[in-house]
Amino acid sequence: MREYMKFYIDGKWVDPVTPKSLDVINPANEEVCGHISIGTAADVDLAVAAAKKAFETWSQTTREQRIEVLERIIVEYQKRYEDMAKAITEEMGAPSWLAQRAQAAMGIGHLQTAVAVLKNYRFEEDRGTTKLVKEPIGVCGFITPWNWPVNQIACKVAPALATGCTMVLKPSEVAPFSGYIWTEILHAAGVPAGVYNMVNGDGPGVGVALSSHPDVDMVSFTGSTRAGIEVAKNAAPTVKRVHQELGGKSPNIILDDADFQKAVSGGVGSVMMNSGQSCNAPTRMLVPGKRMDEVIAIAKATAEAHDVGDPNGNHRMGPVVSEVQWTKIQGLIEKGIAEGATLVTGGPGRPEGLDKGYYVKPTVFANVTNDMTIAKEEIFGPVISILGYETVDEAVKVGNDTEYGLAAYVSGGDLEAARKVASRLRAGQVNINGAGPDMMAPFGGFKMSGNGREWGDHAFGEFLETKAILGNSAPAAAE
Ligand code: NAD
Repeated sequence: MREYMKFYIDGKWVDPVTPKSLDVINPANEEVCGHISIGTAADVDLAVAAAKKAFETWSQTTREQRIEVLERIIVEYQKRYEDMAKAITEEMGAPSWLAQRAQAAMGIGHLQTAVAVLKNYRFEEDRGTTKLVKEPIGVCGFITPWNWPVNQIACKVAPALATGCTMVLKPSEVAPFSGYIWTEILHAAGVPAGVYNMVNGDGPGVGVALSSHPDVDMVSFTGSTRAGIEVAKNAAPTVKRVHQELGGKSPNIILDDADFQKAVSGGVGSVMMNSGQSCNAPTRMLVPGKRMDEVIAIAKATAEAHDVGDPNGNHRMGPVVSEVQWTKIQGLIEKGIAEGATLVTGGPGRPEGLDKGYYVKPTVFANVTNDMTIAKEEIFGPVISILGYETVDEAVKVGNDTEYGLAAYVSGGDLEAARKVASRLRAGQVNINGAGPDMMAPFGGFKMSGNGREWGDHAFGEFLETKAILGNSAPAAAE
């Protein structure tokens, strides 16, 4: 049983102003596996004040000093790597292999990326007599979700530290353990007091207080579009910068000359990974209508090869995060059936033999049309929709026919043709022929998938203000 009742403010572990505890549920067995404190606006005030004070000195540090701090965090993170992976499995149900190889690895990946970018980042640019200077924006408020918990924390905190900002983090109250371990790592690394603060809590109590706080200069949010809109509204009266990383309903266009075995099984596998709880999951697979039967056979075999079970065991897929998510997914699966999609495999209810825990059957729907609810709404579960198309133009049109624009995927034998399709898709990241993740590639969405970009050098821009100094040098003497 984990007891994480304190917040981290001004370099110390402190009690909440008003103690209130929340149970954390292990999704693998529905049992309480720990407790955290739920904060209030009063805790946020203390954390923001500490961050504001620390900004005076941290913003003046040199690049080398910040690299040194980030490198110390990497060393401490390596010592806690196993703990981090275990905590993620416990709090949100990622199977051990995924927690080890991907979830925990992303945390360290963003730290290493921040160091690499910081080494060469141009904070100044001379333009004749005018100088442009990039300065840290100030105090940042970070609100993060449960699906890739430490990835989403690290991709904000690492570049913010690198650019000289100070910050207050509110991790997800649903999966809060990794955020505590992350905070212990930063403390052990000797991040100066007040530079990084953590207050746990829910959206209404702490999320709203952070996004509306007059001394918070920017807020970076990852989570649902619903809450992202709330954050932007609450941030508006103080005109702070708002970065949003929201939902997705990403199209995966498989062209007629693609390697179907690779493209279809890869696409289905990407949706099933992390039990479908990834904002960039390729959840709408678009395939030539005439080849639907072939696609169904591959998709069925791939989904059925995903054994579901205890995330601590040797299973490919664990549970989904919570009862709320389980119930929502079940409702959407039932809607898919009711609206006439072909249920290829999976379906409602728990997988056989798994009566306890929030387990969902890997589910494939075929003959889906884009007006069906399962093609429109982000399900955030192991459910894929396969749609048929007649022409490439139609595939592109349907691919773009979504309110989201986070990611898109294309597969094809003719790389030039695949590139052309990629150029027509309205999404922040387009992945051709199953290309793996690139920590330096900007991550973020068009349309209702958000604003701004995270990861790599683009992330730095979110945390910097541009100052133009006119008359910085005397004009060159006339000949
Ligand atoms: P959520 O948006 O409710 O929560 C995300 C974070 O925002 C949490 O830390 C939460 O406490 C906080 N929050 C909630 N309401 C807030 C408010 N009004 N002001 C400020 N902060 C607030 O998401 P969730 O409940 O964790 O998941 C629900 C849905 O969100 C999922 O089904 C999925 O569709 C989507 N989601 C998307 C992503 C993504 O990466 N794009 C991640 C997680 C969830």
